[in-house]
Amino acid sequence: MNITTFSDLQSRPEIKEAISDMGFEVPTPVQAQCIPHILEGRDVMGQAQTGTGKTAAFGIPALEFLDVDAKHVQVLIMCPTRELAIQVTGELLSLAKKMDRVQIIPVYGGQPIERQLRALRQQTHIVVGTPGRVIDHLKRGTLQIGKMGMIILDEADEMLNMGFREDIDEILSYSGEDVQTVMFSATNSPGIRGIMQNQMKAPQMITIDKKVLAAPAIEQYVVEVRDSMRIEAISRIMDVNNYNLGLIFCNTKRMCDEILTDVQSRGYRCDVLHGDITQNGRDKVMSKFRNGQLDLLVATDVAARGIDVENIDVVFNFDIPQDPENYVHRIGRTGRAGRSGTAITFMAGRKQRSLRNIERQVKTKLNFMAMPSLKEVEASRVEGMLTEVEETLQKGGLKQFVEYVEILTAKGYSPAEVAAASLKMKIGAEEQQEIEVPVNGNGNGQLVNDRTGELMTRLFINVGKNRKIRPADIVGAIAGESGISGKSIGNIEIRKSHCLVDVPADKARGIVKVMDRNQIKGHRIMCKVDQM
Ligand code: ADP
Ligand code: MG
Repeated sequence: MNITTFSDLQSRPEIKEAISDMGFEVPTPVQAQCIPHILEGRDVMGQAQTGTGKTAAFGIPALEFLDVDAKHVQVLIMCPTRELAIQVTGELLSLAKKMDRVQIIPVYGGQPIERQLRALRQQTHIVVGTPGRVIDHLKRGTLQIGKMGMIILDEADEMLNMGFREDIDEILSYSGEDVQTVMFSATNSPGIRGIMQNQMKAPQMITIDKKVLAAPAIEQYVVEVRDSMRIEAISRIMDVNNYNLGLIFCNTKRMCDEILTDVQSRGYRCDVLHGDITQNGRDKVMSKFRNGQLDLLVATDVAARGIDVENIDVVFNFDIPQDPENYVHRIGRTGRAGRSGTAITFMAGRKQRSLRNIERQVKTKLNFMAMPSLKEVEASRVEGMLTEVEETLQKGGLKQFVEYVEILTAKGYSPAEVAAASLKMKIGAEEQQEIEVPVNGNGNGQLVNDRTGELMTRLFINVGKNRKIRPADIVGAIAGESGISGKSIGNIEIRKSHCLVDVPADKARGIVKVMDRNQIKGHRIMCKVDQM
């Protein structure tokens, strides 16, 4: 039993209309295989990975099942987090858009219970809730499920991981004998099988093969850089590709917090999502992320699970995920609903084995990609500027400025030369912010290398003895990052909390550019021309 198109569906025309409005063309495999069974009234356990359209797989039959005139709640959907409950409610509301008077309300912890009580007192058809709050309502008697026809457990494995096993059992114990139970999970586990045994009657088990799922639209790369260069790499990759929205995954909450400021201090709008963030905080972050007020979001696996935001251009695996299965979940955050996406995994040597486990999981060989060079970043900046110029040209309103240009062409310059000079000034103005002309030195405003007589510029770096920095660390970092030879670096003076380094004056600008906000011995540093 399988449907191949949505028109094959035995369902209300209003639902089909809504599906087509949502832009769904064909059912995803999990929808094609699960919907007919659920519509038949069978208990179903569907196993498929994130991003495969599980919400509509249960949402469509749930809506089909409703008696809109009945006064009682008919379907209960349980989700692990508030975020997901809101998201599922949203998707169901879209599917129900053409139906008359369908009430779907989310109930979750953190929202004042009074508001939910008021909502529940009105005619409600579907409740979407997190386990804790659902139990609350069951105990108060404000939600009755004894006669309810259908219970859906979404992301059941995640609910078990979060320790909701007892809550789920308790909730299920309130339900009647005849309730139809539908469960979705990205993985199978003894806990899942336990629920199936205790709760389900002759369940139909549907497993969607992983191979089908490794979304071909996602380009997957490995970038081999030292750990300390990962943020630099993220920033270059974002800039070169003009990405608008990226998701950075870390294995720990701690790491998320650590890199947040690093990313922000490079001028990206960034926020963080992990288990220690309050529900309220999570909602705020997510709405910023959705509304395009963030460029990057840093998250742990659990916090990002189930998040469905379209338009994520790129997923960065800051760490290689501990569990290869998480890799699939992570990269599934991009390339949603047939869009293309890119996933980039950072690796610093000796991690080949983890990488091979992942390749086995996704059944694809991961390709290595070099970190974009500064030149490429520069080129893309110029390209961006030219686009801006072109847009300005298209907008028009240039008459007055053309007159200014004519002042110069009258003097014999070509219009192209005038345009080039303006661009040079614009690009130069941006660079100028990063360069300071040295005003320090030896009486005539300049430093001279005693050994070679070369003109030198003194740089200030804000780490010193306090970070156990030694001259060799400085030489290693500057030579390694900027490519100049260690020998050309002059005097190095390590003070308590900063150090002063003399570098060839003509290289100073480039060195500041690569070193500022870079890291030395794992410490993020500020590097600028010293102002004596
Ligand atoms: P899952 O719960 O399996 O992680 P979702 O239900 O959140 O996946 O669906 C992922 C995305 O795919 C959503 O944006 C959803 O609207 C979209 N989607 C679902 N079904 C289809 C379909 N048949 N065609 C196109 N897009 C779909
Ligand atoms: Mg889901």
